[in-house]
Amino acid sequence: MIWIVNNCALLILGTIAGVMGVSFYLRNSSSAGNIRHYMLFYGVFSALWCLSYAVLGVMQDISLCPYIRVVGLIAIDSFLMNEVFLATEMAGIGKRASVIIRISAAVISIIDLLVFSNREVDIFVREDGYTRWYANSEIQFGRSVHNVYEVLMFLVLFTLAIIWLKKTRLKRSRKFMLYLFMANFSLLFFTIPDTVFPNFGLPGVATSGIGGAVCTIVMWYGAIIANSFNVSVGNITHRLFDFIEAGVIVFDTDRHIAIMNAYAENHLSGEKREKLNDLFNISEADISHMFEKGANEIYSTRLWDKKGEKAYSVKLNSVKDTYGEPYCILMVFADITEEIELADKFAVASQAKSQFLANMSHEIRTPINGIMGMNTMLIDELDDGNVDDARKYAMNITSASQTLLSIINDILDISKIESGKMELIPVEYEIFSVLNDCYNMTLSRAEEKGLRFEIDIDSSIPSVLYGDEVHIRQIINNFLSNAVKYTRAGKISLRLKELSRKGDNVELSVEVADTGIGIKKEDVGKLFKNFTRLDEQKNRNIEGTGLGLSLTEKLVKLMGGEINVESEYGKGSTFSVKLSQKIVNEAPVGNFSDQYNEFVNQKKENTNVIDIHDASILVVDDVEMNIQVVKGMLKKTRANIDTAYSGEECLDKIAKSHYDIIFLDHMMPEMDGIETLERMRKQDNSNTDTPVIILTANAVVGAKEMYLEKGFADYLSKPIRRDDLIDMLCRYLPKTMINVPSIENPEGNTDDNAVSIEAESEAVNAGKSKSLEERFSVLDTKTGMNYCMNDEEFYVEIIGTYVENDKRRLIADTYAAENWKDYETYVHALKSTSLNIGAVELSEHAKALEFAAKEGNYDYIRENHKKIYDEYSEMLDKLRDKL
Ligand code: ADP
Repeated sequence: MIWIVNNCALLILGTIAGVMGVSFYLRNSSSAGNIRHYMLFYGVFSALWCLSYAVLGVMQDISLCPYIRVVGLIAIDSFLMNEVFLATEMAGIGKRASVIIRISAAVISIIDLLVFSNREVDIFVREDGYTRWYANSEIQFGRSVHNVYEVLMFLVLFTLAIIWLKKTRLKRSRKFMLYLFMANFSLLFFTIPDTVFPNFGLPGVATSGIGGAVCTIVMWYGAIIANSFNVSVGNITHRLFDFIEAGVIVFDTDRHIAIMNAYAENHLSGEKREKLNDLFNISEADISHMFEKGANEIYSTRLWDKKGEKAYSVKLNSVKDTYGEPYCILMVFADITEEIELADKFAVASQAKSQFLANMSHEIRTPINGIMGMNTMLIDELDDGNVDDARKYAMNITSASQTLLSIINDILDISKIESGKMELIPVEYEIFSVLNDCYNMTLSRAEEKGLRFEIDIDSSIPSVLYGDEVHIRQIINNFLSNAVKYTRAGKISLRLKELSRKGDNVELSVEVADTGIGIKKEDVGKLFKNFTRLDEQKNRNIEGTGLGLSLTEKLVKLMGGEINVESEYGKGSTFSVKLSQKIVNEAPVGNFSDQYNEFVNQKKENTNVIDIHDASILVVDDVEMNIQVVKGMLKKTRANIDTAYSGEECLDKIAKSHYDIIFLDHMMPEMDGIETLERMRKQDNSNTDTPVIILTANAVVGAKEMYLEKGFADYLSKPIRRDDLIDMLCRYLPKTMINVPSIENPEGNTDDNAVSIEAESEAVNAGKSKSLEERFSVLDTKTGMNYCMNDEEFYVEIIGTYVENDKRRLIADTYAAENWKDYETYVHALKSTSLNIGAVELSEHAKALEFAAKEGNYDYIRENHKKIYDEYSEMLDKLRDKL
């Protein structure tokens, strides 16, 4: 009876173990790792083991038993080898060690197989209808080898298992180990009747197969636990489902939502979540279309959420069973709202860019057309000898060129800001000076149009602030110039208020209001767009490019301020900005009107009579005549004037003496003004705080910022005007040095020589200009006199200096040596000195040579040098005759 149970157990357990091993292998086909392979071998070898031992038990023909046992032995040795292989892999003992152990296990298994498969090792007998075996006492060797083999294999197996146990920190690995121990102890238990009994003269019974099968079943269970954490698509699908940054919705075949992943749950709103249109903005018809299309192929579309705020790219496809019939429909979607917005923005930007280029070329072409047209007319007039008309056209060309230049400057400023290259240059500045200049610039234009101009300044505002003065002026002037442009009657006003003060910062509000044409509500949003002009038809007679406000807004933003517009169409507008500035001097600016009146009076006084006999001034210029001009203009101020004719000489002088102000020419041969200042600042001298004013004939827009950046206090453009020169002195000399005689006593109480130049020169002018004009008919004496304070004596003196300072040799030598850098400097000097004496045409020609030298257009120089040189010679001869 017991043998029947044993055989049934072998057959049943062997079959179960086999099926388990094979099915584990098949079900885990997508897993990484080798566990499934080991389980397959566990199953196959234990099934073979059980089967062969079951057959052995019932085998009637004793002679066949040794052969059946060999089959069983193959299964046993392979089974044990599989176990050792599994343990070497799990123990992580290093590649070399594991290869050695595996090869050794294979070798001893083969030895065992060869030795123990000897048919004489055991004697098979049939007892009670069942096969048993006894050890053959004559051949003990085979059985001993087998015993040693088994002991060795289990030793290796358990040693590796202990190493593995020590190494692993993972609970799931430890658990798998526990199963390995349990499995092998049960195997050992079932091998006792089989292997151990015959050693003690007892009959061996075929039970070990049961041990193999039990071992496999226990290992199978352990492997399921271990394998559930193995890297496989199956194991990570669940996590993936909620982890991916995309929505997944699974529909049943009735198109009802069956499952949603976390992303879909979180991103889609909708109280009901049963059907697609509970979550997306989609019609029933479109749903049908989608599902029909998605049934056989991947269907892609774009859907918006219920609120219409988010856009999703959607893919839909059905999942089919093995019969090709759908059992669910899978939908994945990703949020593409940002991409759509970006694409829209890009389209708008690209359209704006094309629009910008189209507008820009239009705006630039207009003044260029004007310039070209005027020039043609100018040439005609010159051919006809109509100097007056020619002058008129030339003036128009200048004005069109100025318009062109200001458009280009605005465009450059805008593109500088847009490309992030515009830098703010903060400086200390007096708020009164800014307001005063803006007021002055606008007042005359407002008066021309018959507009009142009111100014209301909060008197408590700190007088000296720190910020980007140049751009603050630009902002206020843009508002004021628009206010004048777009107001036909009534008034414009400028208001400056202090909003708040925090630490050493003050927040200001600048407001420009007008009673002009106003702006329609719907147009306010368009105001700050490049090239946008409103009511174009109505405003066609008002000049403008539509860049001013756009630039203003960008500048305000760059300064961290805020811009605002309030307007009523037909009634007027108020433009305002809020800006925060640093306080340098808290002393209040005071009453603007009083100060303005004082300024106007002071200006009158300044330009007429100032006495600065305590001031020492250094004038640096390589052109003697320019120095003469400055000296002449300052003669009556009694200032102590020192001169230097080069950068080097200037550096020598400042090393020895202190000056209260330095006028430094820009264009000088060898060391120019900028380099001189740089060296001056590095050199140890007593002039580190002395303001240095640059004298330049390059007074283009933006030049001032460039010079300020280089460290100059200010700049004066050549030919110098006396008023400007005196203004500079008043601005930069210490106030204590300036003595202003009272108006009642224009002779001055400190100085008899400080007389009213203007009064005197006007009288001189009235009486003598006629004869002057006749005497110097080659010159535009009006221009010349203007630069010489209308002082005929001084003018003649300056003409004398011009003649004495004959630059022909220098010009000719640099031309011959093709030393274009110095050539440029000399013709540059010729340009400004000629204009100074009223040789306007020669000045223009010299300017053309200077530009050609600057741009490297040497062909132009070669073509024109001789002509202009001769013109210069002729001018010198004629002037010499008249002196
Ligand atoms: P523009 O060079 O045309 O004056 P702006 O950028 O300064 O360019 O202004 C853009 C447009 O805004 C103007 O063309 C005008 O239609 C409108 N605008 C600006 N300021 C005023 C104002 N004070 N009153 C009415 N309309 C104004």
